[in-house]
Amino acid sequence: MKRLYYHNLVFKVNNYEGSYNIPILCPNTSRGCKSDNIKKDGHDTSVKSSPQKYTCKDCGTTFYAHTSAFYRDIESNINEFMLNLFEKGKIDNNTVKELLECSNSSVSIILKRIMEAVNESFEVKMAWDTPVHGEIIFIDETWIKINSKDWYLVVVISEDRTILGWKLVKRRTAKVITKIVHEAILRLPQPPAIIITDDFSTYKRVVKMLNYNLIHVRHIHKNPRIHMVVDIIEHEPKKIITTHIATANDIFTNENTFLTGVSTSEEKKHVKGKRGRKKGSKNSKKIKPSTKKLSPKKKEKTRTKELF
Ligand SMILES: [Zn+2]
Repeated sequence: MKRLYYHNLVFKVNNYEGSYNIPILCPNTSRGCKSDNIKKDGHDTSVKSSPQKYTCKDCGTTFYAHTSAFYRDIESNINEFMLNLFEKGKIDNNTVKELLECSNSSVSIILKRIMEAVNESFEVKMAWDTPVHGEIIFIDETWIKINSKDWYLVVVISEDRTILGWKLVKRRTAKVITKIVHEAILRLPQPPAIIITDDFSTYKRVVKMLNYNLIHVRHIHKNPRIHMVVDIIEHEPKKIITTHIATANDIFTNENTFLTGVSTSEEKKHVKGKRGRKKGSKNSKKIKPSTKKLSPKKKEKTRTKELF
């Protein structure tokens, strides 16, 4: 009699961890096989963990649980789901439900969690609650870990909740994210004046690489209270000037005022055809420490509301 084998899939979406038993199927999809007609076929002793080998009785392919059909298709399954979802340009609960119902059950558990994570994120919530001026974009990222593989779902949203761009990426480099944001911005009538992100440090490079004057608002997750850092970025022919306004802990007090630390840093631009240092070399690093030197002397009172 045929026996079904299962593998315990462990996944993580941001801080949420889950697990699910998935049937082990032949990964040989290129030849039309996704057979469950498989047998255990000894252990691979050439690898330290000596994983269990399986062989497909239909096509003869030998594989491991972690290279079975599910893992082969997971990235394209997530991509396909997101593509169908964002095709309409908005995150819509009915569409999510509809799409989850027709995707395969083990994948849909992960997809459901990803959608919940996106909806729960501070940046997305803010996008939902912000009145429309057409001048703000929100960048949200969701960390997806399936067994030992990582992905990041980067989503760019406008104030009117339109999904301007998204991508499932393996690495979150400044170059990769800038490309996603740049393409998203091209869909707007004019570049947004304000970009809101979380505190992932790469965004500091991304907003400068966009190469126009803007305000970057970073929401600091680590802090138990809502904590923002506002960077005003100005491009001059040869340098980029950044004014940092960091909010102190108790920002939203009764009087509707908050304490800030203000500091400025400069970064030389790399001008093509001129002698100089390469991008990302000493110049940019040297200046960074000043962002942390928010000395109490420089603190001043500012109104919050005006910033948004
Ligand atoms: Zn097979």
